[in-house]
Amino acid sequence: AGHSSVLAAKAGFRLPINSYALQACVSEPVKPILDTVVLSPGCGVYVSQSDKGEIVIGGGLDRIPSYAQRGNLPTLEAVIAGVLEMFPIFGQLKLMRQWAGIVDVVPDSSPIIGPSPLPGLFLNCGWGTGGFKAIPAGGTLLAQLLASGKHNDISRPFDLDRFAT
Ligand SMILES: Cc1cc2nc3c(=O)[nH]c(=O)nc-3n(C[C@H](O)[C@H](O)[C@H](O)COP(=O)(O)OP(=O)(O)OC[C@H]3O[C@@H](n4cnc5c(N)ncnc54)[C@H](O)[C@@H]3O)c2cc1C
Repeated sequence: AGHSSVLAAKAGFRLPINSYALQACVSEPVKPILDTVVLSPGCGVYVSQSDKGEIVIGGGLDRIPSYAQRGNLPTLEAVIAGVLEMFPIFGQLKLMRQWAGIVDVVPDSSPIIGPSPLPGLFLNCGWGTGGFKAIPAGGTLLAQLLASGKHNDISRPFDLDRFAT
């Protein structure tokens, strides 16, 4: 993920990846109040309630390339402002914790699947902010490539060579 380009550099090649922090936070647990995920492109945030009752909140990237898994306060403030625009009552909640992970963003917002320039080393990265959703397909495609030595028609367009061709 976020360190793919660091590992690639150790292997002697460059990946067209920028790494950014993506933050999320959760509130103290409350009784059931929200039974779906609400995502607002207008506010740039998403919010849901976990089984434990915590309100789970996230939004866009911290738009400064970074490997620091902290996130910055202005982005968090913007995300919380968006949540409060949708749900003013959530202003009463205390935040319990906040974290950031490093996501690997490719210029065409698509993953990189396939062989690397180093023989025997294969790539499955560049999933950015969508790797949970997409990895069942991404894992199956890479497994097929490893087993057969050939791309599936679906994974072929995601090869690293697209940046040269
Ligand atoms: C806050 C947040 C919310 C997200 N929400 C969603 C969402 O709602 N839906 C969605 O689809 N995706 C979401 N994502 C994105 C998703 O988490 C990633 O796309 C996905 O985890 C990428 O999977 P991966 O296996 O490529 O990398 P990771 O899951 O990051 O795994 C990479 C692993 O490599 C290890 N590693 C790093 N360097 C080295 C090294 N030198 N040697 C050995 N190991 C190393 C790391 O410790 C880590 O375990 C979110 C990400 C964040 C940060």
